[in-house]
Amino acid sequence: MITAPRMRPGERPGTLRASRPNFLIGIGVSVVLVAAATAAIYPLKHLAPVVSLSVVYLPAVLLVSAYWGLPLGLATSLLSAAAFNFFHLPPTGRFTIADSRNWVALGAFTVVAVTVSTVAELARSRALEADRRRTEADLAAAVARDLLGGSETESALAAAAQRVAEALGIGPVSIELGAVEGDRRRQALALVGADGGQVGTLLVPRRLPGDTEQRLLAHVVPALGALVAIALRRDALQAEAVETAALRRSDDVKTALLRAVSHDLRTPVTAIVAAGHALGSDSLTPGERAELSTAVVEEGEQLAALVDKLLDLSRLQAGRAEPRRDWVSLEDVLHAAREGLSDPGGDIRLTIEPDVPPVRADAAHLERAFANLLENAVRYSGGLPVSVQVRRSGPRVVARVVDQGPGIGAVERARIFEPFYRGPATGREAGTGSGLGLAIAKGFVEANGGTISVESLPGQGSSFVVSLPIQQPGQPQPEPEPEPALPT
Ligand code: ADP
Repeated sequence: MITAPRMRPGERPGTLRASRPNFLIGIGVSVVLVAAATAAIYPLKHLAPVVSLSVVYLPAVLLVSAYWGLPLGLATSLLSAAAFNFFHLPPTGRFTIADSRNWVALGAFTVVAVTVSTVAELARSRALEADRRRTEADLAAAVARDLLGGSETESALAAAAQRVAEALGIGPVSIELGAVEGDRRRQALALVGADGGQVGTLLVPRRLPGDTEQRLLAHVVPALGALVAIALRRDALQAEAVETAALRRSDDVKTALLRAVSHDLRTPVTAIVAAGHALGSDSLTPGERAELSTAVVEEGEQLAALVDKLLDLSRLQAGRAEPRRDWVSLEDVLHAAREGLSDPGGDIRLTIEPDVPPVRADAAHLERAFANLLENAVRYSGGLPVSVQVRRSGPRVVARVVDQGPGIGAVERARIFEPFYRGPATGREAGTGSGLGLAIAKGFVEANGGTISVESLPGQGSSFVVSLPIQQPGQPQPEPEPEPALPT
């Protein structure tokens, strides 16, 4: 039984396909059709002269030539001429080669076979070309989806290579970015962008079936090159956009910082300049002179403190605050921080539990961090005592700086560690801060492997909690403290 060939969607029955049907089936069809024509002539002999009935064989020649090509078409012509000669041209039952009518029939059949098979071949090659073009267009569309639909070109290359291999029916294919050499088994085809520069390499097997290599070079490689170039350009533009956004953000931050800093710097400078001018006057009383000189010193100190903070912050932001680690006693650090405060009048009570070990950290960093926390606590607690409690918690030491100030609301809490952030100014502390203290404290604590957080309820004071690892990973244990020498 002959089964109908599988059709593509939209293909009508009887349409010429790009590939020829099976040859053996062709032989079968040829024999059956010639036999049928031979049989059909018998009843027709009573209606028309036998010579004119050779046309009954034409459908067989036509059909076989169209579907199976010239060789089988010619064979069908010969078979038809022979059958006509043997069965129908008198004398029947034998071949009469000398009869010119036989040659006329054969000549007509041959002309039909050649014409039809040539036209069919042309149509078939057109269909084949259209098939290939469709495959290539489908391939280009799928590869474009792979390369341009995803987020990054490099990760989409494997899927695109797989599609090329499947569409062309060839062995392993890979696409690499940039120029790559081929090897013993694989040949390298350069993928070139619109500007002529090589953007990638298509690696395909050295041995390729039929005209696949020519198809690859003529159609697939140029399309692939253009797509990879576009995808890489898209990657670059995306990266540029991200970088530009980051730069703009950091530019905005820098502008805001500069504005804040210039204001903070100008205030003490203006005061110093004014006091300096006034000091030059002859009419000053010794009391006024002393007052002005105190103002110059105080404003100068404020200026120096601000400059120190700015330097600390810029060092931290540039990643240049590399801690010089040593075994550090938090008690010593907190005493030093308290003594260094610009307002030493604050009531600061230290409670250090006896089992608190030294921590591996940079003492100067920790001192700056705690000085800022203590300075804030004193400033915001409005004269009420500030307490500092230090205790051990497993592998860490936890220090709490607790004040009885106004507390910090949730919205504010989320922002207070940002550089130059200043909360809503209230009461005595209004306008006194630089907005740098907590950012610096956080920077130094984190540089030493610690964390800093705040707990506060508005109206009930604030607790700043610093947690430091006792030991940094892979560091030696602290040496035991020498026994204090007995007084002699
Ligand atoms: P400043 O120099 O302005 O204090 P900080 O970075 O040290 O800058 O603090 C940022 C903001 O956090 C302050 O403006 C203030 O609103 C808030 N803040 C910091 N410490 C306290 C505290 N102990 N109590 C209440 N608010 C605080």
